Amino acid sequence: MNIAVIDNDKISVTQTEDLKLNGKKGAIVKVLGCGLCGSDIVKFREHISKNGTVLGHEIVAQISEIDSDTNFQIGDKIVTSHHIPCGKCNFCKHGNVSMCEHFKSTNIKPGGFSEYVYLSEEHLQNVAHLMPENLTEVEASFYEPLGCCVRAIKRANLMNDSKVLVIGLGSIGILMSQALKAFGMKVTGCDLLPERIKFLKNLGIESLDSRELAQNQEFDAVFMTSGADKAIDVALKNIRSGGTILVFSSTPQNKGYANNEIYYRELTVMGSYSPSPADLKDSLELLRNGKVNVKNMSTIYKLNDIQKAFDDTINNRIMKAYIKIKD
Ligand SMILES: [Zn+2]
Ligand SMILES: [Zn+2]
Repeated sequence: MNIAVIDNDKISVTQTEDLKLNGKKGAIVKVLGCGLCGSDIVKFREHISKNGTVLGHEIVAQISEIDSDTNFQIGDKIVTSHHIPCGKCNFCKHGNVSMCEHFKSTNIKPGGFSEYVYLSEEHLQNVAHLMPENLTEVEASFYEPLGCCVRAIKRANLMNDSKVLVIGLGSIGILMSQALKAFGMKVTGCDLLPERIKFLKNLGIESLDSRELAQNQEFDAVFMTSGADKAIDVALKNIRSGGTILVFSSTPQNKGYANNEIYYRELTVMGSYSPSPADLKDSLELLRNGKVNVKNMSTIYKLNDIQKAFDDTINNRIMKAYIKIKD
């Protein structure tokens, strides 16, 4: 089967042996397609993942072989995520499920940018769902990234009707803004790129150029889907005292959050990383019922063009790449 692997400074398509269950429980699934996540870009660009790694985890797939106690059957089209919390450790008991060691060690194998993937019985039991019939495979691929947004919103624990600013309107900012609105918040989005500002506006959510944001807007919360120094400045100038800054992006260059602002202004700065099985269920429902609209967000690439998908994403030429693996 074909797989795309990290090969120093490029992503190469190569061949590896076909997958078989060989007596294991779980399923072999044919990957219809896989979304390209910002975290894949970071792992590739910052050389965090080794050569030979198959990236990709936002898969939509069809079951081709199965031995499972679940009701899934051969031919079922499914969505799944890649990590599963143990539910028993100290992290899990405190709700920090994405810090759980089991969560971090579980994965889909070899990775989403592959013609076939092995899903364990645990995946099938906890994080796999039938693809809703009213969604296309590209739309369904937002199941996992939207789950991450749902988790962030729940963690921020905001009152209904809170004024929330979303900084950064890439695909995650667009998902986050819509999900916040679905959770009952008053949302404003901002970015520097006119086409992204317009994209959110067209979805009926207030959206403006970060440079035109009036100062001291007194937002109850700011969601940071960008980690640039300037974005942090905008956040600190527009958060009300006592408000919450939700960090949802890595920040390779910035100097971090200002200690004295956190102290004197009683700010809560919190992170949110990856989704729990419950967040994923909520995500699928938001996609199914159309409260989060993901039409026209993705640009579709063939597996052989995956390098271009990475390049176009890195250079902000597209909002979101979807690698279509099965024709
Ligand atoms: Zn992702
Ligand atoms: Zn755990």
